[in-house]
Amino acid sequence: MGDSTTIAAIASPPGAAARALIRISGSRTRAIVRESCRAAAGALELGPRGGYAATLFDGVGELPVLVLWMPAPASYTGEDVAELHLPGSPELVRAALERTYELGAQPAQPGEFTRRAFLNARIDLARAEGVLALVHARNEEQRRAASALLLGGLSARVEALREQLVDLRALVEAGLDFDENDSGGVPRELLAQRARTLLAAFEEALAWEVAREAPSGLPRVVLVGAPNAGKSSLFNRLAGACALVSELEGTTRDVLRGAWNLDDTVVELWDSAGTAVAQQAAAEPDRMAQQRSRELRAGADLWLWVIDLSRAGFDWEREWRELCAGQEPPPTLLVFNKLDAAQPLAARNAQDSLPPALARRLRGPIGTSAHQGAGLRELRDLAGRVLACESTAGEIRELSVRHHRALSEARQSLLAAQALLSGCGTPDLAAQELRSATEQLDHIAGRTTPEQVLDRIFARFCLGK
Ligand code: GDP
Repeated sequence: MGDSTTIAAIASPPGAAARALIRISGSRTRAIVRESCRAAAGALELGPRGGYAATLFDGVGELPVLVLWMPAPASYTGEDVAELHLPGSPELVRAALERTYELGAQPAQPGEFTRRAFLNARIDLARAEGVLALVHARNEEQRRAASALLLGGLSARVEALREQLVDLRALVEAGLDFDENDSGGVPRELLAQRARTLLAAFEEALAWEVAREAPSGLPRVVLVGAPNAGKSSLFNRLAGACALVSELEGTTRDVLRGAWNLDDTVVELWDSAGTAVAQQAAAEPDRMAQQRSRELRAGADLWLWVIDLSRAGFDWEREWRELCAGQEPPPTLLVFNKLDAAQPLAARNAQDSLPPALARRLRGPIGTSAHQGAGLRELRDLAGRVLACESTAGEIRELSVRHHRALSEARQSLLAAQALLSGCGTPDLAAQELRSATEQLDHIAGRTTPEQVLDRIFARFCLGK
């Protein structure tokens, strides 16, 4: 641990902000801070854990920083960790980060801080996954599920099960040294009884993990856009549902949910009240519909931004601002609907009028006609690809699948051991089953998880986490 390379990364979101954060971890952390920062009274001496006000020299200028110093081993990674809290100007932050590199830090890989915490046994794999899930949580349900993981709800249950499995196996193995008539071993019936009790504890842990997952683990795709763009018509086409379609603006007062079959997965498709109604909304039901619609948009994994191509003139930035309503939007796919009623060059003209910065954030466009069914296949393909590559919903669900599979397989082995102990199976076979149950549980904590699986899990983290 003492000789590890020292890593540094920006740990705050990109862009200008009031404050930004650089995180450094490793054996050179103290030296890097001392060489780059100075206290008012002279050299910055990092003593016990705490906050230190200082001035940082980035090689060009100087800026005020607050250094949060967390010496090993009681830090997030288990190594010496410093967090530099700086004014959030992207140029200043970049210069300060460069300075840490000049002084010997390496750029951190995505998830490397959490990986070090895991390798230094500060957290087990299930908790590390909780960090990942929390970072990517987009709605209250996902946040709750992630916190339960991060706070060790699963880890504690798995650890208790593991201890009991190891105890039971020790008793079974102790009995191997005695023959049937010998009184030295623990009676088989008692061992079988303990296995049954342990099975009940497994059921409880499995039920907890199932309940922890978001009630619907399916990715959420939400149709967004101005009233009358054709969202409900597309909803009906895609989800095979029957939402009310009308030329009267704001017909969709409530949110509607359907299932949309993408090639290898099913997602939840949601239709919501059009955004522009917000400006005119006076009546209480409208306001409530708008509020629900905002919540729905905030919790989405993907937006399908539906544009009425038969209409002329677009105020892209205004509409986008209204959609985002101050929140960070999910990956968004642009849908040019009403292709059948649009002028021949409408799609080209609409695309040309898109501000470049906004165009870079969007996927597509896909031209569709909800009336004639054109473009729906392409829409489905692209939505599937964007969800697979850019959204984290699938990844978070994969974590639960991993835990679930390991717990279920461990339970199967325990069930086999219990049958062997209750019937006339040999105790050494039962001991073997108990060992494989323990190994399955160890996958959850990451004790025996292969390097490639760890690589895959940590690669999904953001930089600086
Ligand atoms: P929403 O308010 O965005 O949900 O829009 P609706 O689905 O209620 O559609 C508004 C109007 O546009 C209705 O009269 C629809 O029949 C019409 N519409 C929707 N999609 C299409 C389309 O692809 N082509 C044409 N020509 N009209 C469409």
